[in-house]
Amino acid sequence: MSSRHLVFLGPPASGKGTQGRRLAKDLNLAYLSTGALLRRALRDGTELGRKARPFLERGEYVPDEIMVPMVLEWVGEQSDGWLLDGFPRTVPQAEALDSLLEVKPAAIILHVPDDELRRRVACRLECVECHRVAREGEGAQCPECQGDLEPRADDASASFENRLAEYRRLVIPAVSYYCDHQRARIVNGMGSPDEVYARVKG
Ligand code: ADP
Repeated sequence: MSSRHLVFLGPPASGKGTQGRRLAKDLNLAYLSTGALLRRALRDGTELGRKARPFLERGEYVPDEIMVPMVLEWVGEQSDGWLLDGFPRTVPQAEALDSLLEVKPAAIILHVPDDELRRRVACRLECVECHRVAREGEGAQCPECQGDLEPRADDASASFENRLAEYRRLVIPAVSYYCDHQRARIVNGMGSPDEVYARVKG
């Protein structure tokens, strides 16, 4: 892994958060999950949360006009390497990120079949404090920060199917963008988190 500017793309529940956090920690990269950032804003009732709520509740993506300035600001504040989980999700987002950088980011694309994604969301939990991903049966508290583990509202089935449709419509073209620029690595996301991580590290 030579680049220290990394973006993780993949369908909902493909393991971006689990793998992205682990890789960022290992490589000592700053880490931002845009999904976690939005859910926190919702919970805290901030201006961003107020704007994003209707989209998140319908399982739709938040418009580029809201996402792009927010993420570019964060990237601009980083003095060393970073990893983005959940951004870019559209071609305009990918182009906006490229336009900011001299060293263009490399993309890791997690590939997981739809049936497996549906199985995973059915038992997925998230820590309301640190946003670590967990599974039913791991207990009621986060093993890292002791925050409450809860199902995500947007994992309810109608919302999940919408996110899957949004993934096909908007993210697949962004995946092609990175492939066309020879900056994409497609990783098989099936198997245990450790098995997938071994492939992610390459
Ligand atoms: P998942 O990948 O499981 O759908 P995330 O936590 O990455 O979950 O994102 C949750 C939701 O947050 C998305 O469905 C979308 O509505 C919104 N979101 C996150 N990142 C972006 C982005 N870059 N552009 C638009 N919407 C986003």
